[in-house]
Amino acid sequence: MTNNFKENLQDTEALLAPYKNNVLPHFINGQAIPSQSAATFDNYSPIDNHKIGSIASGDRDDIEIACEAAFQAFHEWRNTAGKIRKKLLHKVADGIEKRARDIALVESYDSGQAIRFMSKAAIRGAANFRFFADMAPSASDGKSLPAEEHLNYSLRQPIGPVGVITPWNTPFMLSTWKIAPALASGCTVVHKPAEWSPYTAMMLAEIAHDAGLPEGVLNCVQGLGETAGKALTENERIKAIAFVGESSTGSQIMKQGADTLKRFHFELGGKNPVIVFDDADLDKALDAVVFMIFSLNGERCTSSSRLLIQESIKDEFIEKLCGRISNLKVGHPLDSETEIGPLIHQKHLDKVLGYFSSATAEGAKIAKGGKIYDVNGAGNYVEPTLFIDVESNMRVAQEEIFGPVLSAISFKDEAHALRIANDSIYGLAAYLWTNDVGRSLRLSHQLDAGMIWVNSENNRHLPSPFGGMKSSGIGRDGGDYSFDFYMETKNICTALGTHTVPKLGKK
Ligand code: NAD
Repeated sequence: MTNNFKENLQDTEALLAPYKNNVLPHFINGQAIPSQSAATFDNYSPIDNHKIGSIASGDRDDIEIACEAAFQAFHEWRNTAGKIRKKLLHKVADGIEKRARDIALVESYDSGQAIRFMSKAAIRGAANFRFFADMAPSASDGKSLPAEEHLNYSLRQPIGPVGVITPWNTPFMLSTWKIAPALASGCTVVHKPAEWSPYTAMMLAEIAHDAGLPEGVLNCVQGLGETAGKALTENERIKAIAFVGESSTGSQIMKQGADTLKRFHFELGGKNPVIVFDDADLDKALDAVVFMIFSLNGERCTSSSRLLIQESIKDEFIEKLCGRISNLKVGHPLDSETEIGPLIHQKHLDKVLGYFSSATAEGAKIAKGGKIYDVNGAGNYVEPTLFIDVESNMRVAQEEIFGPVLSAISFKDEAHALRIANDSIYGLAAYLWTNDVGRSLRLSHQLDAGMIWVNSENNRHLPSPFGGMKSSGIGRDGGDYSFDFYMETKNICTALGTHTVPKLGKK
């Protein structure tokens, strides 16, 4: 353990101390308030599964109050000039930057994600706010579409109060990715964060309030998916739901929102292939393969959880890969040396461990890992794991494991690689490693995935479209794509005064 670890731990404990004996509340209409029912649920640290504190458990009544607050705040917020919204959202970004270390520490402790990644994620949260703040003044811009005798022009207006439902894997950054464009477009928000990682959502709501965001513009209701989350998706005041989470939950949410005709944006699961050809820069490809499955504990929607490796280089590449996996540092998430922390929850650990037995039963081999990683007998640590001799129809090649677990499948040629890559219900991302430009273009066009990275790990560019095909999602985020979701497009058609209106009933 490094020295910074002790300091990080002490500071995190101080940050969470107020919640040891006090319930983490909701934040509604500018105020921290408990649940109407006073119900709570417990939250545990993945580091050793001790209870961090109790959390207000929101239900239909709390959601109702929050949605009403968002509805009441909507009229004024949508009519607030874009340049004022821009200024306020930059202030939110300032507040995030000021508290970036606190956010990173709490998130790391609460979610088990290593601090080396969470410190960057907090800063990215601020960058998301700045990016969309700058777009706020032009969010309603449309097109001019003149016709011979009429002038058509379009503009966009915010859709109304929206619900944002987020998962636990990088909770703070992901919530800013949804909330910042919603606020920039003039929508008000009710946020329901994941029950396994509740703390930083409250920090965001407080930061936004302190930055001067009017009451009711951003509300946060803590609670379980099947109660608070469900009520939010069914609430009449809410016009759209931006959801990030599992594909099966997305399908559930779509049913729940049907009666109120909600608009949905879904960022769901993935089983993303990284395809390595023998003509690639293999050292760089190895770095990317290791990074894209073992960073963020493999609890990452864009993780490259399927390694498709060309037969001619398979043995050499796998040997080097095993060497790198042996060197990965598993440990306490607040130690800056740590590369892999504990998984979010005991239930998730059990799910991941279940794949170790199913894989071998189906005929795959464990080349590395495959067990619990023992840290003083406590916590949800698992060894970084590599399965080899995997066939595309095995569960470890088809199902999203969402842990530091890589399944390697070999292929003969381009056509074979493409077949395996597309043999999935998911279609979020794909990574290609080849120095043959023509091949990279051919495959990029034929892969069924919303995002393709060629000779690169996941690299985000905020104006670019982010999202998946098939069971990985509906809709795109990023730049103007986000505004298309949070806003209605309206067409205005005005006559030049030269045309003749059809004359019915005239003799
Ligand atoms: P989850 O679907 O279990 O939960 C996500 C959120 O939905 C939580 O806040 C939960 O409380 C809520 N929820 C659950 N049931 C609900 C219901 N019936 N109605 C309304 N809300 C409900 O997902 P998770 O386990 O928290 O997160 C992991 C998943 O998220 C993985 O599948 C991962 O791939 C996905 N993810 C996708 C992206 C992406 O951009 N595509 C990004 C991050 C995570």
